[in-house]
Amino acid sequence: MKKMFLPLLVPTLLGVSACSPSNDSKTTASDASKELAVSTSSNFDSVYNNISDADIREPLKILASDEFEGRLPTTEGEKKTIDYLVSEFQKVGLKPGNGDSYLQKVALMEITADPNMTMTIGDNTFAYKEDMVASSKREQDSISLENSELVFVGYGVNAPEYEWNDYEGLDVEGKTVVILVNDPGFENPESGKFQGTTMTYYGRWSYKYEEASRQGAAGAIIVHETAPASYGWSVVANSWSGPQYGLVSKDKGASRVAVEGWLTLDAAKKVFTDAGLNFDEEKSKAMQGPYHKPMNIAASVTVNNTFKKSESNNVIATLPGSTFPDEHVIYTAHWDHLGKDESKEGDQIYNGAHDNATGTAAILAMAKAYSGLSPAPKRSVSFLVVTAEEQGLLGSKYYADHPVIPMDKTVANLNMDAMNVLGKQKMWPLWAWANLNLKAILKLQRLNKVEH
Ligand SMILES: [Zn+2]
Repeated sequence: MKKMFLPLLVPTLLGVSACSPSNDSKTTASDASKELAVSTSSNFDSVYNNISDADIREPLKILASDEFEGRLPTTEGEKKTIDYLVSEFQKVGLKPGNGDSYLQKVALMEITADPNMTMTIGDNTFAYKEDMVASSKREQDSISLENSELVFVGYGVNAPEYEWNDYEGLDVEGKTVVILVNDPGFENPESGKFQGTTMTYYGRWSYKYEEASRQGAAGAIIVHETAPASYGWSVVANSWSGPQYGLVSKDKGASRVAVEGWLTLDAAKKVFTDAGLNFDEEKSKAMQGPYHKPMNIAASVTVNNTFKKSESNNVIATLPGSTFPDEHVIYTAHWDHLGKDESKEGDQIYNGAHDNATGTAAILAMAKAYSGLSPAPKRSVSFLVVTAEEQGLLGSKYYADHPVIPMDKTVANLNMDAMNVLGKQKMWPLWAWANLNLKAILKLQRLNKVEH
């Protein structure tokens, strides 16, 4: 457990002390090394050595207990969760991170689709939850695809930095795109495409629908496969039925595709076969390079919606820095999980111990450790525990649109989702976006601390 912490706890000490506001981009690993010597003159070692299993285990047990009801946003489970987080931050002396509040309110739109729906593709009629799920983010009582032509768009990715555009030269106006889950690197890591087995944002379902919307498609259907999705069909069936949340949007969802759906792999294979195509062959072409193919088959579905506005909360607490308090290193984790399913017999609660009571518990353990440091880190350290990740990173999206700490004062953001629960590991994969300096510092830490 302790080893897990080092790369997470140290960068702020180092990153903070190594980088003055004027020379961020020039800081090198050797600068960081000098600063390591400085930081060891603080009480870092004793604070570090006092981090115990219980610091993580106890909050993890509480957050994942039945009492917290699976931590679904806007429910009693949310109230218990955010009250608990605020009181734990207060206990270790952290300041409110949003003015005089520990909370940032996030306005959500709750949309519930009538489960009494089917999807027709060609001659096949697919059953809700068994073969497919469909929903709409548009604030309309009823919204339909009527004989919308299907186009297979491979991974549905438009990524200039990877020179990959599955939509190149394609007009999908009024059509429904069929998309593979994950990104082109995942099942083909030797190819060097994207980030190999590490999923990029282009692999996430939320991106698939966003890009299909930007392309002007009428509908977007993701083909579920367990390995690249990293979860089974039951997760899709459960999390995509019942109330779905979105951020309250000015255009009432008009810029989204009309219908967002998933098909099981079996159902998708049937559709491809009916269209005279072989799913595996088409998929393998899509893995080689940007790809799309008209399917000459059409889909129809009607989604009937009910709406409710609701409010959830991001939680934010700050340990002020001793030298550059305006500048922040932010640690994030999402506190939410899937809640409960009252239609289930027996245990109805999705406790979400791993995803993401572990990350949230780690945040609390780190907050406690950081608050014991003397002197305090030079930059401020903020802990941002976000809501509605499971519904499409909504708390994070809201924060990015309404940052409490200005972006140009945000030095780094380290996110924790589903911590290692397997015990000691030989490898600790390391990757960071954009900030190579941070990556160098983290690497240095790994050499100096974790591997001996
Ligand atoms: Zn998660």
